[in-house]
Amino acid sequence: MTVLPQPVSLWLNDLLGLFYPNLCYACGQNLPAGQSDPVCLTCHYKLPRTDHHLHAENAFTERLWGRLELQSAAAFFQFVKDGRVQRLLYHLKYNGKREVGLYLGKLYGAALKSVPAFQSVDAIVPVPLHPRKEKIRGYNQADWFARGLSETMQRPVIYALKRTVFTQTQTRMTRAERQVNVSRAFELSASVSLPGKHVLLVDDVVTTGATLEACGARLLQHPGLQLSMAAIAIAD
Ligand SMILES: [Zn+2]
Repeated sequence: MTVLPQPVSLWLNDLLGLFYPNLCYACGQNLPAGQSDPVCLTCHYKLPRTDHHLHAENAFTERLWGRLELQSAAAFFQFVKDGRVQRLLYHLKYNGKREVGLYLGKLYGAALKSVPAFQSVDAIVPVPLHPRKEKIRGYNQADWFARGLSETMQRPVIYALKRTVFTQTQTRMTRAERQVNVSRAFELSASVSLPGKHVLLVDDVVTTGATLEACGARLLQHPGLQLSMAAIAIAD
């Protein structure tokens, strides 16, 4: 029996896998060789999906209720402390793993695309980081989620907002001070015009909703703009 030679790239992959195994970013277990998705099959099925996109009223829309005019809002997962979603977000935000954002965006975009409320979206706008913070981190995690959504929803990512206040010192502020601080933190990008467009504003996690509210309020300054929101996760 003759053994056909393996392409060098595959051989190299196997070799590298011995030293740097591919791990699932949600549970830390080894991924099967050759798997390019950053999440294992078990986690793929066990991630706590909310199905918000199937319900016009949900925990996300309720959180922003009465604060600004919103068409639809949906978060992919429920944030659970020490759970799979928290680990995914850790890798996306603090461990340089942009591919987690891209992967989750592609998955969620496919789900959103199947629902009329999100089919009318014209453009995807990520919540911006302050340029200084983006330089330190090397990228904006919300932008990579937006790029994933863009791929499957077939809508462009538009950088319609900029963050003008550096909010690193927020931890020493009270909740009320933080809200005032964040409400002043964003401006519209002068070069972008979105009148009458349906915009999907996206961020990684929804907590109080103050950041999304501040960004949304700015976007609504475009005449006739319709606003919807999407996030990777919603926390209690
Ligand atoms: Zn896993």
